Amino acid sequence: MGSLGAASRAGPPALASPVRRRPWAAPRIERRAALVLSVVILTAAGVADAETGFAPLCLLIYLVPIGLAVWFNGRALGYALCVIAPAISIAVDRAPKAPYVRVGDFVGELGLYFTYAVLIDGMRRRLATEASLRREALSQLRHADRLTTIGKLAAGLAHELGTPLNVVSGKANLISSGRLAGDAARRSARVIEEQADRMTAIIRHLLDFARRGGTGRSPTNLRLLAEETSELLRPTARKAEVTIACEGVDVEASVNRSEMQQVLSNLVTNAVHAMPGGGAVTLTTVEDGPHAIIRVSDEGEGIPADVLPRIFDPFFTTKDVGQGTGLGLSVVHGIVDDHGGSIEVETRTGRGTTFSLRLPR
Ligand code: ADP
Repeated sequence: MGSLGAASRAGPPALASPVRRRPWAAPRIERRAALVLSVVILTAAGVADAETGFAPLCLLIYLVPIGLAVWFNGRALGYALCVIAPAISIAVDRAPKAPYVRVGDFVGELGLYFTYAVLIDGMRRRLATEASLRREALSQLRHADRLTTIGKLAAGLAHELGTPLNVVSGKANLISSGRLAGDAARRSARVIEEQADRMTAIIRHLLDFARRGGTGRSPTNLRLLAEETSELLRPTARKAEVTIACEGVDVEASVNRSEMQQVLSNLVTNAVHAMPGGGAVTLTTVEDGPHAIIRVSDEGEGIPADVLPRIFDPFFTTKDVGQGTGLGLSVVHGIVDDHGGSIEVETRTGRGTTFSLRLPR
C-alpha cells in the first residue's frame, strides 16, 4: 500500500492524513533466493543432525526448507525435499538401529513432512485464490467508478454541446431561408464548420477517455495529461462556478494514461464538490529528483479531522445519496499504489485541501 504521509507548510497547522503501513507485511522473497535458502538450511540441518545427533530439533529444522520450497518454488520441489530430508536424516543417524527401525524412522518422517507440505501448499493456493478474487473485485470497483465518471462527463459535455448546436442551427436557418447573399452565406457556412469542429473535438475527448483501457504504461507528460483531463472537466466545473487551472513544468512519468486520467478526474471532481460556492482548482506538476509530483489543490471547506482517516476507505462518503459513491479516493489510492507512488493530503478547515501524488519517473 502506498504510504500516505503528512505534509507540513508554514502557516496554521494543517491536518494531514495518517501514515498507513502494513506492519504484518511479510518481506518479499524471490524464487531463486528461496531455493538457495532451502538448500542452505537443508544442508545445515543435515550437518547439525550428523554432528549433534539431536534428531527431534533437526526434524523441525527440516520443515523450514520444505516450507520455503513449497511456498516459493512449487509443490514438485517441496515434495522432493520431503523425501530428501528424511533420507539425509536417516543416512547421518549413527545410532545403532535395526534396519526395520531405520525404515520406520524414514516412513514416519516422510509422513510428517508430506502432511506439512500439503498443508502449506493448501494455504498458498487459498491465499492465491483470495488475492485473485481481491484483484477482480478491485478491478470491478474501478470499472464502476470509471462508468460513474463517464456518466458525469457525458452530462457535462451534453450541456457544453448546446451552445455550438444553437449557433449551427441559427446559421443553417439563415442560409436555408435564402436571406443571406453570397459572402454572408459563406461566412455563416464557415461558422457552422468551426462549430462542428468544436463539437467533434468535445466528443472526441470523451470517447478518448471512455475507450482507453489496458494495463500498459508508457512515458507520459503529466502536465499535458493534467491539461487534457481539465479540458474534459471544465464544462462540469463551470456549472459550479469553479475554474480549473494547470501550472507547473513538463514532467514525464511512466504511467497508464487512462488510469492516471481517472485519478485526476476523481480528485478534481472532489475538489469541485468541496466548493459549493465556486472557487479555483489548481493542478500543479513538479519534478522532484526521481519523482514526479502532481498536486490538486482546492479552496474548499477542507476535510474535518474525524473524516480524514477514512477518506481512502471504499464506500466511505460524506455526500448525499446519488452525490457520492465513496469509490473515488479508494480508486485513486489503488491506482497510485499500483504505480509505486504515494499520496499526501494537506487540509485546512475552511481554507482548502491539497492532494499530492508522488510517482516514480
Ligand atoms: P465520494 O466523492 O463519492 O464521496 P471519495 O472516495 O472520492 O468518494 O471521497 C470520500 C470523501 O472524502 C468525500 O465524501 C469527502 O467527504 C472527502 N473529500 C474528498 N476530497 C475532498 C476535498 N477535496 N475536500 C473536502 N473533502 C474531500
